[in-house]
Amino acid sequence: MADTCLICELESADASTQVFADDLWAASIVPGYDVPGWYFLRARRHAEKITGLNDDELATFGRRAQDLVAAVTTATGAEATYMLMFGEAFPHFHVLITARGAEIPPQSRGGELLKLRAEKADFEASKALIPAVRAAYLQRAATSGTPLATEATR
Ligand SMILES: [Zn+2]
Repeated sequence: MADTCLICELESADASTQVFADDLWAASIVPGYDVPGWYFLRARRHAEKITGLNDDELATFGRRAQDLVAAVTTATGAEATYMLMFGEAFPHFHVLITARGAEIPPQSRGGELLKLRAEKADFEASKALIPAVRAAYLQRAATSGTPLATEATR
């Protein structure tokens, strides 16, 4: 763990905020980005940017991302589910996966959705959605060839 890495610190977050965790990847809601339907998918190890991932992480990232996007879409009924990566302010590799519901007006779609972060943040509502997303993820992972998350129910 790097000193003062906020993404590494998610390792000690409460399990109730977590969709899944396996040996290499974990997904959870993150305070400050706790809009219902928004999740960080992060490398468990402190690896910086996509260029810092090792071969095992590179080989498994696509499947984890696909399974999580599918699970979020299923659980939320979102019209669209985005996957965003910046890696500048927080270089520890992670992507932000965001459900975009039908209620979001056209001018707030795409990258504009991020501007609604503060207005839409609701930690308790985000936590309440976790069991449905976790169940959808585990169901998807069981049929997609992804090894089942080893710590999903810790
Ligand atoms: Zn880190």
